[in-house]
Amino acid sequence: MTRSSQCHFVVHMFMILGLADVFLNVAQPPAFAQGAGRAATPAPTGPWMDKSLPPDRRAGLVMEQMTLDEKVQLVHGGSASSGQATPQLAQSLGGAGFIPGVPRLGIPDFQMTDGRSGVANMGRRGRYATALPSSLAAGATWDVKLAYEYGALLGKETRDLGFNVSLGGTANLIREPRNGRNFECWSEDPIAIGKMLGRALKGTQDQLVVGNINRYAVNDQENGRQIYSANLDKRSLRETDLLAFEIAIKESDVGTVMCAYSKLNGVYACESPYLMNDVLKKAWGYKGWVMSDWGATHSTVPSALAGFDQEMPSGTYFGAALKTAVEKGEVPMSRLDDMVHRILRTEFALGVFDNPLSTHPVNPFPGAEVAQRVAEQGAVLLKNANGQLPLKAGAIKSIAVIGSHADVGVLSGGGSDQVEAAGGNPVPGRSPVWHRSAPLKTIREKAPKARVEYDAGTDPSSAAKLAAASEVAIVFVNQPTTEGRDVTSLSLPDNQDQLVSQVAAANPHTIVVLETGGPVTMPWIDKVSGVLEVWYPGIRGGEATANILFGSVNPSGKLPATFPKSEADLPHPVLPGPPPAPPQPVPAAAQTGTPGGAGQGGGRGRPPQVPFDVNYTEGLKAGYKWFDAENKEPLFAFGFGLSYTTFSYSQLRAVASGQNVTVTFNVRNTGKVPGAEVPQVYVSLPANAGEPPKRLVAWDRIQLAAGESKPVTLAVDPLYLSIFNVDKDAWEILPGEYKVFVGGSSRSTPLSEIVRIAAAR
Ligand code: BGC
Repeated sequence: MTRSSQCHFVVHMFMILGLADVFLNVAQPPAFAQGAGRAATPAPTGPWMDKSLPPDRRAGLVMEQMTLDEKVQLVHGGSASSGQATPQLAQSLGGAGFIPGVPRLGIPDFQMTDGRSGVANMGRRGRYATALPSSLAAGATWDVKLAYEYGALLGKETRDLGFNVSLGGTANLIREPRNGRNFECWSEDPIAIGKMLGRALKGTQDQLVVGNINRYAVNDQENGRQIYSANLDKRSLRETDLLAFEIAIKESDVGTVMCAYSKLNGVYACESPYLMNDVLKKAWGYKGWVMSDWGATHSTVPSALAGFDQEMPSGTYFGAALKTAVEKGEVPMSRLDDMVHRILRTEFALGVFDNPLSTHPVNPFPGAEVAQRVAEQGAVLLKNANGQLPLKAGAIKSIAVIGSHADVGVLSGGGSDQVEAAGGNPVPGRSPVWHRSAPLKTIREKAPKARVEYDAGTDPSSAAKLAAASEVAIVFVNQPTTEGRDVTSLSLPDNQDQLVSQVAAANPHTIVVLETGGPVTMPWIDKVSGVLEVWYPGIRGGEATANILFGSVNPSGKLPATFPKSEADLPHPVLPGPPPAPPQPVPAAAQTGTPGGAGQGGGRGRPPQVPFDVNYTEGLKAGYKWFDAENKEPLFAFGFGLSYTTFSYSQLRAVASGQNVTVTFNVRNTGKVPGAEVPQVYVSLPANAGEPPKRLVAWDRIQLAAGESKPVTLAVDPLYLSIFNVDKDAWEILPGEYKVFVGGSSRSTPLSEIVRIAAAR
């Protein structure tokens, strides 16, 4: 296809999707090839160009040719403050980050964008990218194959758009349910995160893109993220937050790790020898490189010696200052070489070196298809009293659709994971952003004979009036969340609890659809007949929601995070924050300044905040482990999710052979419609392990026809049965009795059996 016919084809596709204006508005001049605008450099012919050599060898060979300046150039971002020469900066696409390459040696530029739920932060070359459902929605699918597709789609579009580094892949735990970035996370369980995110990152990297896992480590809340110290004992650290990273890194061989803004046990993450040298590089044998979160570098020599490899997005500490430190011998040349070697060997290993960038318009169809599947499989049916759902399209005469701008689209999460809304934000203002996939439209399409009317929900009495005059009321409610700011409470904002209560009082057939970044409280739960959590469901969220409400798709998502009844039940009933700053005189100039976000830790027009500690004294008891250990009844348990059918479990057999445990059982679809179930395996460790009551160790996702039964066999990775022995600085499996539980959620495990693991010989 010629370039012009290719463009024509894509415009045509966008027209079909109703997004022609999007393409036409954001498309940039014709595709570029990297290096365009540069004087043509003859292709290098050195021995490192030999693709048959191993990546480490190739990196070593090219490094023999590099000057000190060229090495330093690779270990920091090329933003304006880095002092880079302008011609090199002109190569930047203006995305989240840029590092000029070394054309004479064939080392490509690094063009970086954000990418958790789609390609974001593309800068001036911004074009259409698929708005996938949030990572948390993907986490709720518990589908490792779909996680791979989610990551692969992201990688493909990253490449298509001209970028070769995708900044994304959040391994942080949903430890703090009010964290503004929970929608970027995958789960509250480290093993679930590790497996799901690991597959997603593998998918991304298989598209010739360097992946990234972030934010290392324990950056589990946004409030004061640049000034707090997250404090957690070593064993808990290794068994919770770091375990998620350990598994995901092992599963994916991800090329880069992003160290966090925050401190861990009093040391900045990007200066922590424990995190970078000891654990990541030594214990886990990590071969990629560590880059900073944007502006999270705090020093030259201590950072370099701690195992930190690349400052982003500029070169305040790792530009001229690093060169001087190397020349003075404060940072050994071997350390700089190690940084550069890690970067180059990763480029060789992932095919980024050998496959120059070029841009292509994104084909929106595969993206929309993956987005819809993730939204459909990740939606969690939380309540369905009296089989209220699925709605019977032919029989219903009137439906009230209420709230959350359901007439124009579905909500998305804010901050650096904000994918541009195709066609612009249909809701006035810059944020939060809605994607144009309107549930009102898709509900109307499902029930063409019904009277479907919309009420904005801003006045609960008017909404209740419409609900009273309708057979069924579907109330859409939302919780906008964003990077840089936590939510102050788990209650729905903007009087939406009142809205639901009044609508439910007016109509006994009230269904609530939640578009939230994470858990919320539901004071009205006993008054409504149905609740469906769709998270931030992406560009096909409207279609996915209607398909589930009307039964074209049987819901199968399971909660990746516990929903508490109230904040009083959390390990930290009040969100940790800085002590109130003493009143200070405000200089006249600052009075007109932009207020700094809570996440910025002061600055920008605010008096600096006082550093504070976030003490995770709950230790190992993160997420459901806290609720189990403290005997607290959650509103909805980790792993919970309903279906339009029912499943039964039988014939559990758990067998240990050495330290390997294999679990076999049967799952039967006992209802009348086909459906998918996510059987989950939890294990209680021997009492002397001192662990919370149980932990997730394995799961599957199986499709069953009505009446069908399938055997499931799951091998449990020995690591997942281990505890971290701080004295030995190693994982170990204690001999003793392990109780294996199997069922459809962490609180519904009809099968259990004890298996004995003998002492290791
Ligand atoms: C975020 C990162 C992101 C970076 C670049 C930072 O504020 O914490 O997740 O990759 O910005 O956009």
